[in-house]
Amino acid sequence: MQSETGMGGGVSARDPRYDILFEPVKIGPVTAKNRFYQVPHCNGGGYRDPSAAAEMRRVKSEGGWGVIFTEQVEIHHTSEITPFIELRIWDEDDMPGLAKMADAIHSNGALAGIELAYCGANGSNLYTREVPLAPSHTPILTFTSDPVQARAMDRQDIRNLRHWHKLAYRRAKRAGYDILCLYGAHGFGVIQHFLSPRTNQRTDEYGGSLENRSRLLKELISDARDEVGDSCAIAVRLSLDELAGEQGFTNAQLRDMVAMYAELPDIWDFAHGTWEACSGTSRFKPEGAQEDLIRGLKQLTPRPVVGVGRFTSADMMVRQVKQGLMDFIGAARPSIADPFLPRKIDEGRIEDIRECIGCNICVTGDMTMSLSRCTQNSSFMEEWRKGWHPEKIRAKSSEAKVLVVGAGPSGLSAAHKAGLRGYEVALAEASTELGGRVTREAKLPGLNAWGRVRDYRQGQIAKMTNVSVYRDSQLSADDILGFGFEHVAIATGATWRRDGIARYNLLPIALDRSMPIFTPDDLMAGKRPTGHVVVYDDDHFYMGSVLAELLVQNGNRVTYLTPSAKVAEWSYNTLEQGTIQARLLDIGVEIRVTRGLGSVEAGGVTGICTYTGRREVHACDAVVMVTSRLPDDQLYLDLKAREAEWADHGIASVKVIGDANAPAAIAWATYAGHRYAEELEQPEIGDALPFRREVAGLKT
Ligand code: ADP
Ligand code: SF4
Repeated sequence: MQSETGMGGGVSARDPRYDILFEPVKIGPVTAKNRFYQVPHCNGGGYRDPSAAAEMRRVKSEGGWGVIFTEQVEIHHTSEITPFIELRIWDEDDMPGLAKMADAIHSNGALAGIELAYCGANGSNLYTREVPLAPSHTPILTFTSDPVQARAMDRQDIRNLRHWHKLAYRRAKRAGYDILCLYGAHGFGVIQHFLSPRTNQRTDEYGGSLENRSRLLKELISDARDEVGDSCAIAVRLSLDELAGEQGFTNAQLRDMVAMYAELPDIWDFAHGTWEACSGTSRFKPEGAQEDLIRGLKQLTPRPVVGVGRFTSADMMVRQVKQGLMDFIGAARPSIADPFLPRKIDEGRIEDIRECIGCNICVTGDMTMSLSRCTQNSSFMEEWRKGWHPEKIRAKSSEAKVLVVGAGPSGLSAAHKAGLRGYEVALAEASTELGGRVTREAKLPGLNAWGRVRDYRQGQIAKMTNVSVYRDSQLSADDILGFGFEHVAIATGATWRRDGIARYNLLPIALDRSMPIFTPDDLMAGKRPTGHVVVYDDDHFYMGSVLAELLVQNGNRVTYLTPSAKVAEWSYNTLEQGTIQARLLDIGVEIRVTRGLGSVEAGGVTGICTYTGRREVHACDAVVMVTSRLPDDQLYLDLKAREAEWADHGIASVKVIGDANAPAAIAWATYAGHRYAEELEQPEIGDALPFRREVAGLKT
């Protein structure tokens, strides 16, 4: 057994102001030990990686959450959302995985919640090939526009749906769950489709009036109570507003319905109408953005209420409870970024909270059907695969000293985690500020919260006597060879290219010297173009649109040019694409999509239609190239060239990490730093996989 370090605190020193957050709250037949309620969230692992998902929840139990939910659990094979990977409760084969997760959640006294989903008009059934069922005949309502329609349910279908739910209730109880939640939010659940006049055009007793449209919900809850209500609490998760105007299920209708069925469920869980609206990024939504929609709902029911709002501030949480907005502080992303958030508040360790930055990189794991990752918490979904933990790490293996060069997200993470292992660490940074790219990017429009990546790590390092920080210290290979550290991590970052090379142009293009060309680094360093600017985006994430906003603020006329069919195309994975495109349209940016950059001439650029190859000239006074980056790896290469001298200088290893190795998003850099520290002085594993995985068992 490895000894471990980390985990400050111990003796409770809770600020009495936060006592209210630790009051037990009754939910029907069960009682939550506190008000911290991890609402359901996906993780990109689901049924493919059941042990990884279970261990992730176990760590949250250790971190003090009162209620911990699964991700969405599909109740029947006639409704599934392939290619996305969630959980299923279709038959006995699903039970071991679900029971493992419930056990993990219970490990430290949390209540286990299961979110039961029947997607109906939102699931194309690409895997099961069943005909989807919905209140009315509707095309499948996802952004994937699959060529599939849902059939309108007849009365027998509705009876079947109730029966399938009953099977799921019994299985969920048997698997060990304490709270069963019916999913009717985000447009994903059949309940929302019945409630909404847009998707429910029925003329029978399940359509028309609000009473009729909510009949199914009432029946499903009553059935749940009859089946398992003696020991399980029944929750319902509903949209605060479908966001479809008066045609949809509005906030006013929700209020009427809660008043109508005030005591029906054991707890009301309110989310937003679409996932995009509910899980907005910090660029577009502040903490507690749903306050106006949730205010007053609690007063309509004697049952407890849970809401969400990317809550990371304990004071904000207290206000939600004291002002009667909610009884439980719902959290998905804040619980991912810091699974120990409740425990840190409990132990009076507010400054140790690793605040979610609202970047939605976690969401991209679900959207890309890979395993989710978190910019702030690199151990997320590595708890089982790699044995990583957000607070603990194996103790150091020797008295060796570690030098980390560069204090961007990768260098800060490496220094922090190596320090936590107990190594003597020196962190050298060329500039006077720590944070590297996050410090620069946090000054751009809407990205202020990204500074939290630096703040958390800088704060933790400041408390460690074994980590020394040297600012204003640009190191050379000679310097490093002269110091005599056993281990050296080079985390010197990357620089945006000026030559137009990225995805569309893999080779250099003609650039007229008379045209001023700016890179994101130039703009972040305070340089500004004048006149009409073309922002060329062949990066496709946030940077191009953020710089377009910056330039509009600067008074420039801006044309946004991209080879993609959409602005910031990859940001659909962070649920931002629509909002970003709307923002640029609103602020007057001229958008030219499906245009690759052919050349840069005096007085303009030539765009090439990516479909027809037709060329068109866009007159401009300057160009901003948001293309790709090159690693700043010269220091590493210099050291590598002198490998023969390492031993004489006591150097055992030199590794290049983060953007200096291969540029990527910030989450990749924090991960690289964490990984460096985890693997430092660990035995070589040769050809073995560096993680555990589960492979489906074969059946005959
Ligand atoms: P990453 O995302 O991999 O952490 P960043 O670009 O954010 O990379 O950070 C790299 C940091 O390294 C910057 O703050 C930069 O000032 C610093 N740096 C670059 N070269 C040196 C050097 N030779 N010595 C010390 N610090 C350096
Ligand atoms: Fe928050 Fe970003 Fe982590 Fe998601 S990935 S939990 S949004 S910090």
